[in-house]
Amino acid sequence: MDFEPWWLIFVPVLFALGWLAARFDFRQMLRETRTLPDSYFRGLNFLLNEQPDRAIDAFVEVAKLDPETTELHFALGSLFRRRGEMERAIRVHQSLLSRSDLPQAEREHAQHELAQDFLKAGMLDRAEAAFEQLKDTDTRYALPALRSLIRIYESEHDWPRAIEAVKTLHGLVDEPVPQLVHYYCEQAQGALSAKPADIEAALTALDAADHAVEVAGRGESLSHGSQVRTSLLRARLAGLENDSKRERMYLESILADAPEYAGLVAEQLLANYRQAGEAVQGLEHLRAQYERHASLDLFNVVFRELRAQQGSETAWAFARAALRHHPSLLGLDRLLEAELSAQPAGEAHSSPVPGADLSLLRTLIHKHTQRLDRYACRSCGFQARRFYWQCPGCNAWETYTPRRLEELE
Ligand SMILES: [Zn+2]
Repeated sequence: MDFEPWWLIFVPVLFALGWLAARFDFRQMLRETRTLPDSYFRGLNFLLNEQPDRAIDAFVEVAKLDPETTELHFALGSLFRRRGEMERAIRVHQSLLSRSDLPQAEREHAQHELAQDFLKAGMLDRAEAAFEQLKDTDTRYALPALRSLIRIYESEHDWPRAIEAVKTLHGLVDEPVPQLVHYYCEQAQGALSAKPADIEAALTALDAADHAVEVAGRGESLSHGSQVRTSLLRARLAGLENDSKRERMYLESILADAPEYAGLVAEQLLANYRQAGEAVQGLEHLRAQYERHASLDLFNVVFRELRAQQGSETAWAFARAALRHHPSLLGLDRLLEAELSAQPAGEAHSSPVPGADLSLLRTLIHKHTQRLDRYACRSCGFQARRFYWQCPGCNAWETYTPRRLEELE
């Protein structure tokens, strides 16, 4: 379309319209402003002057003077919650809920906020009850409520209800819940640790875990860890049933498929070989595994067993070569520990390092290695001497690498 000069006539008209609209808005705003209480502006002023405490007091006053201002109540409630003032947050949301004239949608919103307050305040029972009321509604709060419930059941170690809630969630949305495998594993672990062990229950839980691994594997949202854990539990189950062949098969599958976890199974695998009278083959197997995938925990097991089977000279020769390839203070520390504990008390520490006071050396090294001899959570940094599938610090799953801190540096 070509430009026609007569179109220019519209320019002043548009200016006039814009000017009118601006005036209209301004008047409207002035009218509204007159109806707002002074405390509102005081609050704003405090906010602008970065005095949030006084701002909150002023806004609380507005909320009191004008109880109709639900938006302000919601804003205050979540502000209190963010600041950790849980009692005040709960009071704001409860006062909203107590109003009989509150529309249904806002009632559900307030209920959801209140449930979150309870959760953050650690009042799990009340949070659970509040979320329960929301999860069956067809509002937009149903899904977040369900997700929060899963977390609550998880922290209560109520695995059956956590699993049930995940199933409900999957009925509503196609959303991966990778920790579902661990819920089943926790169930299986509980059944195996019971006295006497409940083999039937453990098997059912492990089958469900395998199914969950399979489903999650299709979506590729699964890490190695879940499979390692189910194999570990299956090995333990086989051990309880005195089926050492099956136990060995599961343990070796971990070495083959997830060598980074070898340290967690080496000891158990060696015991399995020893039980079958095949300690020599067991050691050879682990040594070959160490050559392919060196790790500190594996080094430890191999060194001890080598010393027991073939004497300290061969063991030290292995250790020297290993430490040359992978220099590690922690490795040296473990080595000296094994050497010292193997020597009868009172005997001079003459071999294998002539002239060296091994116990003094070990004391010195041990002091430095203690902080390195830990597993650490990738997500929150929580450090622990034992390996966890769920971090005790931040409750995240599979955030521990099965390697010591020294190996990660
Ligand atoms: Zn953590």
